[in-house]
Amino acid sequence: MIVAIDGPAGAGKSTVARALAAALGFTYLDSGAMYRSVALAVRERDGRPAEVARAADIGVGDRVVLDGRDVTEAIRAPEVSEVASRVAADPGVREALVAKQRALLQDGDYVAEGRDIGTVVAPDAEVKVFLTASPKERARRRAAELGGDPGTVLADQTLRDERDRSRAHSPLEAAPGAVELDTTGLSVDQVVARIVELVEAARR
Ligand code: C5P
Repeated sequence: MIVAIDGPAGAGKSTVARALAAALGFTYLDSGAMYRSVALAVRERDGRPAEVARAADIGVGDRVVLDGRDVTEAIRAPEVSEVASRVAADPGVREALVAKQRALLQDGDYVAEGRDIGTVVAPDAEVKVFLTASPKERARRRAAELGGDPGTVLADQTLRDERDRSRAHSPLEAAPGAVELDTTGLSVDQVVARIVELVEAARR
């Protein structure tokens, strides 16, 4: 079974997807870590982003490994977020990473998280969730997670969301049939419990 979790930055996708995968015994796939890894590689080497994406060997298990190097922490830097949202608008980059994601999702049970899992990567996912939260709440969470000033985080996040929503190729939007879940004011446990209910309903 595939559970697709999409939504904007700071909606709680990673925290929820990780906890949900643990609760269900599914594998967690963080597709954003793949875009971030390509962004890091693009900053460090020459070449067109699409070629860099195709050539990159990216492992997204407990640690994120790019061509044999552990980049788990490096890909969380704000500069990398910014470059990631730019390379993610490149159709060639998306094509290369979607192919890698589909190959991973072929076998086993997954909770896959990103922007286009329900719309593009796994449109046949049995459960699709579109997580949202108020912009202020999203900035507060991101600032708490990464350190930094909520005002600056809010400005950076607004810019990235706008870029994700308005790009021509695979814009951020709820997939047909996705359940929209506003996490503002909800605990992680409450959100996970709600999605577990959806998974149980899909199994019946
Ligand atoms: O989710 P995360 O913030 O780590 O993703 C980093 C960036 O990668 C996003 O801002 C978005 O531009 C891009 N992304 C994407 N499609 C995905 C996952 C991430 O375009 N499935």
